Amino acid sequence: AYSLELKDVRKSFGKSEIIRGANLQVPKGERFAIIGPNGAGKSTLFNLMSGRFPVTSGDILLNGESTIGLKPFEINRRGLSRSFQITNIFHRLSVYENLRCAVLWSLGYKYSFWHRLNGLKDAHERAESVLELIGLKRRRDTSAGLLTYAEQRALEIGITIAGGAEVILLDEPTAGMSRSESDAAVELIRKVTVGKTLLMVEHDMSVVFGLADKIAVVVYGEVIACDTPINIRGNQKVQEAYLGGHAPAEA
Ligand code: ADP
Ligand code: MG
Ligand code: MG
Repeated sequence: AYSLELKDVRKSFGKSEIIRGANLQVPKGERFAIIGPNGAGKSTLFNLMSGRFPVTSGDILLNGESTIGLKPFEINRRGLSRSFQITNIFHRLSVYENLRCAVLWSLGYKYSFWHRLNGLKDAHERAESVLELIGLKRRRDTSAGLLTYAEQRALEIGITIAGGAEVILLDEPTAGMSRSESDAAVELIRKVTVGKTLLMVEHDMSVVFGLADKIAVVVYGEVIACDTPINIRGNQKVQEAYLGGHAPAEA
């Protein structure tokens, strides 16, 4: 069974077609890296999968069901959660409060009074356990805006997984990190995605090769190849498409 499937997805902004017939099948429980040159449409694919923009044509299936027409929060409640390329946390809330908010959002407001009361308790417990998981327990009551950059990105991963989603999209989770910070981020991502489906846009090939079961290569709005890391490295078409930029052979 597939967690996520793209079927001939197209997206235009005004007159320019940015996604030009993308196809992808992500089996449940696998980790995928999405690589490709800057401007290829990787973040746009995440925006389409998470319902931030509507597709122009084609279909996107989450656990076998079309998400076309659903709003972002509805897709989130069906089990898909994403992070953003630019860090997206509440700077003036504490680390704990950021996590609790994330859990409460994912619960939504359709519940009765008693459900909501229990929801608050669940959200508290869930926030505490995510805090531990992402290694920020001693930063529990620190304002998120005062964390180091690497800690903010760890919090962001915590926010993304806090609601218990099974399909996790991470957009450039190690961008701007030092080698040792990104090594730690790889371990964190591995830990929090055990048993889940991961799609990760990533330029750093040591991160890609350290985490990915499969690599999908996006060039000019199309998935031009999708294969194991070893096979992608040896793929002539992929080599040519990169023109020396972030060539996977560098890893
Ligand atoms: P990547 O993440 O692969 O670097 P993006 O998906 O961010 O690329 O962008 C792909 C192209 O789509 C870029 O040319 C970008 O300018 C364009 N684009 C993205 N979002 C919008 C938008 N909301 N309106 C117009 N153009 C957009
Ligand atoms: Mg980019
Ligand atoms: Mg991007």
